[in-house]
Amino acid sequence: MPRIDTSALAHPKPAPRKKRERADDDREHKANLQKLPCLAGPVGCQGDVVVHYLRRTGRPESRGMGMRSAHRWGVSLCDGHHTRNKDAVHRTGDEVRWFSERGIDQIAAAEALWRNRGNLAAMRRVISRAQP
Ligand SMILES: [Zn+2]
Repeated sequence: MPRIDTSALAHPKPAPRKKRERADDDREHKANLQKLPCLAGPVGCQGDVVVHYLRRTGRPESRGMGMRSAHRWGVSLCDGHHTRNKDAVHRTGDEVRWFSERGIDQIAAAEALWRNRGNLAAMRRVISRAQP
């Protein structure tokens, strides 16, 4: 079957190279988040650091856009603060209050982490400034 040149169509296919780079960017961001200290630490930390995805960001673009935008709203939490501790974020019904009680601006932290994605040293500084 001959190859069809789609570049002249009204809606040409998006360039696959660009798409792949964005996906790599997101995977790298997730991997880097897992290398950071716990945002809610160091007191009460236990276990490995995982990525917690903020559910309530107050930003419309965080809804209904799939995994790609979810990584943008990821923060680093240890297993203890994420799920294992008695007062872990996933054991409360109110994520916003959970962070607020600890004096953490989780939305600003997620945004700063995303802005500094790919720069692990800068991401570590974001965490240490945002920790309680
Ligand atoms: Zn922790």
